[in-house]
Amino acid sequence: MDVNPLPRLGYCPACSDEIRVRADGTLFQHSSPGWPRCPGSRRPVGLLEPTFVRWLHANAARKDAYTNRVTHLAQHKFRGCTRSPNRTPADMTWTTAEELHDELHRQQVRLTGSENRSGYGGTERCDWVCRDVATAGRIYAELAAS
Ligand SMILES: [Zn+2]
Ligand SMILES: [Zn+2]
Repeated sequence: MDVNPLPRLGYCPACSDEIRVRADGTLFQHSSPGWPRCPGSRRPVGLLEPTFVRWLHANAARKDAYTNRVTHLAQHKFRGCTRSPNRTPADMTWTTAEELHDELHRQQVRLTGSENRSGYGGTERCDWVCRDVATAGRIYAELAAS
């Protein structure tokens, strides 16, 4: 599956967003609430660890959600289906694929009182979202190991 590489991100001291880092170690130009051009843009920063949640977020910008399960999952998590603003990795309660999988089942307990997400009458624990998370987790692990 075609996916984005692990992101090179730095913490912007001016707007406290996570912003892509250039080869020279400075932040890409970005906007922030109130500033069309954030004044932190040119400041060199340390790299943030390219965790699973940050990598998945980087895939939300791709245009192939209809054919790519990773893009689909990323957009589902970070864009949702409402008019609310896009979410960022900082808004998530999980960092790894395993934590996201646990979160899916916690949500299910809150919704239905059972961990089971699939099967007639909820007889099976995992559904296709769980499988997409597992696939994304495997791809991320391969990228992180290479
Ligand atoms: Zn900034
Ligand atoms: Zn599951």
